[in-house]
Amino acid sequence: MNHGAGGEIMQEFIAKHIISHFPKVKFEVPLDSFDDSAVVDDVVFTADGHTVNPLFFPGGDIGSLSVAGTVNDVSVMGAIPIGLSCSIILEAGLEVDIVDKILESMGKTAKDCNVPIVTGDTKVVETGKLDQMLICTSSIGRRSPYMDQNLATASQYRVVDSRWATDNNVRPGDAIIVSGTVGDHGIALLSFREGYGFDSEIKSDVAPLNGVIEKGLKVGGIVAMKDPTRGGLANTLNEWCVKSNIGMEVNECDIPLNNGVISACEMLGIDPLNIGNEGKVVIACVPDMADEIVKNLRAHSLSRNAAIIGYAVESKTPRVVLKTEIGGRRILEPPTGDPIPRIC
Ligand code: MG
Repeated sequence: MNHGAGGEIMQEFIAKHIISHFPKVKFEVPLDSFDDSAVVDDVVFTADGHTVNPLFFPGGDIGSLSVAGTVNDVSVMGAIPIGLSCSIILEAGLEVDIVDKILESMGKTAKDCNVPIVTGDTKVVETGKLDQMLICTSSIGRRSPYMDQNLATASQYRVVDSRWATDNNVRPGDAIIVSGTVGDHGIALLSFREGYGFDSEIKSDVAPLNGVIEKGLKVGGIVAMKDPTRGGLANTLNEWCVKSNIGMEVNECDIPLNNGVISACEMLGIDPLNIGNEGKVVIACVPDMADEIVKNLRAHSLSRNAAIIGYAVESKTPRVVLKTEIGGRRILEPPTGDPIPRIC
C-alpha cells in the first residue's frame, strides 16, 4: 500500500519500476519532472486513477473527485482544462443506481467547472476482481490567457526560469500561500469510513479549483502552484524544496485548520499536514504580490480562508522548518507512507 501512498516510497517506486522503462523524451515539462501535468508542444496533459473507498463520502463521491482532481492538476500548471476523458471499470453486480448517481455527480461537477467530458471507455470485470468501481480521468489544457502577464509581473521582481507554474520554480524570498484549511478531505473520509463521528462536522473539500486559480493568476506574480493531495501540505512543500533547491520557513499558527480536523488529528495521533486535500491549492509567489493574491482568493467561495503561511529561504539542504506556536522550530519531514489509504 505504501507504493501508492504518495510519499517518498511511492516516488522511488515510480522512478525505479515505472518511468525507467519508458523512453526519455525531451519536453518542456517532461514525465520525470513529476509535476502535476506534462507539457507537450504547449498542450498541458495529465492523467489520474481514482480508487476511493467508500464511493460516497461527506462532501462528495468518486465522481466529483475524479473530475476535480484532474481539473486541478491541469489548472495548477497555469493552464485552462478544455476537455476530460472518463474511463470506467465496473465490478459485475454493482447496482446500476449507484453507477447512475456517480456519473450524474461527474456530469454535474464537469458542468459546474465548465470542463466538458469529451471521450471515454467502459469495461466490466468479474465479481470479486475489483472493489465496486475505478474511474480514470485525463485532461488536456491550454495555456491560461493570464499566464504570460502573471509571469511578467513576477519577472519585475526576480528572474523567472520556467514558463509554467512548475515545482522547480520557487526561489528564496517567495511567499507561500495556502488557499484554505488543510486535512479536511482525508479526515472526513477516514472518520466516515471508520465511524469515528467527526464527519458530522468535517466535510471533504473536494472541488475544481480552476476558478480560484484564475483569480490568483489575474493578480500576477505566481511562480508555482500545486494541489496538496496525497501526502498533504508536508509533501507539497518538501517536493518544492527538493526540486527548487531551497529551504522553507513556515509558521504553524498561520496554517488554516478546521477545529474538527484539529481534534480528530489529536485524538488519532495524525499530523494534519500529512493528510490529503482535494480542493486546496498551494501557491508560491513573489512576496510583493502575496497580499493582493490572498485578498483576491478570499473573494472566492472556495478560498475564503486563504493565508500566507511562510517563505522560501536559502538553504544548504532542501528542508521545511516549521515555526511552532510556542516559539520552537521543527523540521517538517515529508510523509513516508500514507496515514489514510484509499482517499483518492
Ligand atoms: Mg497534483
